[in-house]
Amino acid sequence: MAESVELPSRLAILPFRNKVLLPGAIIRIRCTSPSSVKLVEQELWQKEEKGLIGILPVRDAEETPSVSPVISHGVGTDLTERSSKTQASSTDSHKLNGKNPQEVIHWHARGVAARALHLSRGVEKPSGRVTYMVVLEGLCRFSVQELGTRGTYYIARITPLEMTKAEMEHVEQDPDFIALSRRFKATAMELISLLEQKQKAGGRTKVLLETVPIHKLADIFVASFEISFEEQLCMLDSVDLKVRLSKATELVDRHLQSIRVAEKITQKVEGQLSKSQKEFLLRQQMRAIKEELGDNDDDEDDLAALEGKMQSAGMPSNIWKHAQRELRRLKKMQPQQPGYNSSRVYLELLADLPWQKATEEHEFDLKAAKERLDSDHYGLVKVKQRIIEYLAVRKLKPDARGPILCFVGPPGVGKTSLASSIAAALGRKFIRISLGGVKDEADIRGHRRTYIGSMPGRLIDGLKRVAVCNPVMLLDEIDKTGSDVRGDPASALLEVLDPEQNKSFNDHYLNVPFDLSKVTFIATANRLQPIPPPLLDRMEVIELPGYTPEEKLRIAMQHLIPRVLDQHGLSSEFLQIPEAVVTLIIQRYTREAGVRNLERNLAALARAAAVKVAEQEQVVPLNQDMHRLASPLVENRLAGGGEVEMEVIPIGENNHEISSALNIASPLVVDESMLEKVLGPPRFDDKEAAERVATPGVSVGLVWTNFGGEVQFIEATAMVGKGELHLTGQLGDVIKESAQIALTWVRARAADLKLAITDEINLLQGRDIHIHFPAGAVPKDGPSAGITLVTALVSLFGQKSVRADTAMTGEMTLRGLVLPVGGIKDKILAAHRHGIKRVILPERNLKDLVEVPSAVLANLEVVLVKRMEEVLEQAFDGGCPWRQHSRL
Ligand code: ADP
Repeated sequence: MAESVELPSRLAILPFRNKVLLPGAIIRIRCTSPSSVKLVEQELWQKEEKGLIGILPVRDAEETPSVSPVISHGVGTDLTERSSKTQASSTDSHKLNGKNPQEVIHWHARGVAARALHLSRGVEKPSGRVTYMVVLEGLCRFSVQELGTRGTYYIARITPLEMTKAEMEHVEQDPDFIALSRRFKATAMELISLLEQKQKAGGRTKVLLETVPIHKLADIFVASFEISFEEQLCMLDSVDLKVRLSKATELVDRHLQSIRVAEKITQKVEGQLSKSQKEFLLRQQMRAIKEELGDNDDDEDDLAALEGKMQSAGMPSNIWKHAQRELRRLKKMQPQQPGYNSSRVYLELLADLPWQKATEEHEFDLKAAKERLDSDHYGLVKVKQRIIEYLAVRKLKPDARGPILCFVGPPGVGKTSLASSIAAALGRKFIRISLGGVKDEADIRGHRRTYIGSMPGRLIDGLKRVAVCNPVMLLDEIDKTGSDVRGDPASALLEVLDPEQNKSFNDHYLNVPFDLSKVTFIATANRLQPIPPPLLDRMEVIELPGYTPEEKLRIAMQHLIPRVLDQHGLSSEFLQIPEAVVTLIIQRYTREAGVRNLERNLAALARAAAVKVAEQEQVVPLNQDMHRLASPLVENRLAGGGEVEMEVIPIGENNHEISSALNIASPLVVDESMLEKVLGPPRFDDKEAAERVATPGVSVGLVWTNFGGEVQFIEATAMVGKGELHLTGQLGDVIKESAQIALTWVRARAADLKLAITDEINLLQGRDIHIHFPAGAVPKDGPSAGITLVTALVSLFGQKSVRADTAMTGEMTLRGLVLPVGGIKDKILAAHRHGIKRVILPERNLKDLVEVPSAVLANLEVVLVKRMEEVLEQAFDGGCPWRQHSRL
């Protein structure tokens, strides 16, 4: 604590801009300006501990309007009068011109002498300027008598303002002073107590209160608050002890009040924060009270409902125990708690699953089942027969573990709808589980509940949706599951389809076994090849190869059109699609094995008609055809009992009236022009093959794809090169090897085939061969393109085009033997769809022709071959001249 010090008559002055250093206060400043650095160096640094400087507050020039830029001497120092003012006016300030003529410095007339408690010197790096860090302690007040400069800094002649000892003793006797100091001490004590309470700090500050003289205390206290510059000045000016004490008391009191207000606000906020905790407590209490009263709140209602549902779910006893354990856990949880929701969703699933609930098994009528299958599907005689056999076995021995049916065929041939007919025939609910693209075993078996967002597998989810334990479950596209790092869905399916294992199917999410043995599984697939053999082994495959155009026409007329009309809220009264138009759609707009696109096109026509009907627009174009059509219709109606009241209007008299009168009466008949308008220009025609094989090097093959049989062209071309074979069109290894074999075979027989004059001539001399399989985006593999490849190469080297009406399929050995291939029925149907008239097949595929509808065979010439030479003989117009030539 600063003792009273002897002040010299002159003090170097450090101006404090808008700031006051009060006696007792400690402040740290950084001196960077040349003048202050000089001052510190000369007055403090060199004199070490003995150095004293004066701190004089200055005001910013803007704050007080400048009066005159002169140093005014003889400052008014009537202490009593001035100290009582709260503001030091500019008149009692010195004004000094700074170096900058514009800059006017408003000096305060009183300052505080200070000494350095600590000094440190630094050098600013880029400029190399010296700076000082100074810790100053305010000591006592002084008044400026005269201000001048010493070198670059200011110096003032001063008089100390502290009281002498005698004066001090005199004041201490003053009752006013005594009262004032008591009040100050009390307020200060209060403040200290409050602060200590808040910061839980020890009572060091209280000791200050007892030991430090009261007039110094007042300064020390005020110096520690954040108060305005004016108030600081006022405190500095309070030389009179009584004034100082009363001013300090006022400031301490104000500080105390502001702390109290802040505290109140904090308490209020804290009160709000703990509101949720309070709420929780209250809720707990309310719960207890309600329990006593036998009342339940919503949440509990829900849980009770859940428990009720669980009880009636008919779970096996061990599962019921497990569920109860989980429910007890849930009851102890708060709804906001993490895990509450997942636990609840889990229990909901347990309660929803059909543990016992089943569609009532009733004696089903085989005849009715047959009728149902017949009424739902056209044709498919053998398939329906097999289904009836399957149903008959089930009827005789309901718990027999019959085979699982697997319908295999291209899209749109009725696999799904057959399965749903079986469900209807059995009187069971039907559910379809799509397995296409399932690569993760968890899709079948579910995720463990430890994972966030875990859920049951598709089977359990399906059973929850269908809500009975004995539905007909269609595992759709079982060939489209694949395995990767996330496990093998097929192995999970093996468990599902195995009657020995599916009694206790284990879903990871469910975590308790579920009995799937009552479910009737039916699977569908586009192709057999991708189905893993163990899975295939569990199923009985029923193939649906696709329809002939005639069959499609019948399906469209008998099933699709009535259904499409019904779906669009139409009837044959509004829209009629004649057979001839349907045939056109089949020929020109669809070239598929199934009937899905056909149905889609019919739906497009129905939509177009629906718009017209809905708009009540001109439905009957009044051209001559329509007159012809409309008149018998009107007549028929009138003749048929005249139930419909209709005014007969002479046709042709007033076109507008007639059209509106016929609006409802005459149906819209789709014709070729409407077909083009709605479906666009025809997408297929029979000329494609002829156009594509017009250049040598192209042959027509028959292949088998996911969409059934397809006609595919193979293109070969030669160019200058080094004898390399290039293959394109997303080919698998087998088909690449077929191409190598084909090339080898052709090169080996080049002379025989008259492709080269002598045996020695190399067909690849100086040229590369490129074989392409359009469409380039579709992956292809398999050996059945062997003979087609050879034909393309022979056509290329011999520069002769193949027959456009002939397509072929068959594998070829290196020696030229033609081996049988699969999918004959699909391929022949595809050829038929494409308007191909001749098909070259391996002789050993003769047996497969039995399955081909006779209507198709009647339209096709099937050429059976054993050797490659025979293929070539048949593939070119007029046989294979080169070979004949070589025979001569
Ligand atoms: P898939 O499951 O084989 O892809 P869908 O069973 O979905 O094919 O059949 C597509 C549409 O064709 C269905 O509306 C279905 O009723 C119809 N359909 C297919 N074949 C026949 C058929 N033989 N008789 C009647 N409608 C058929």
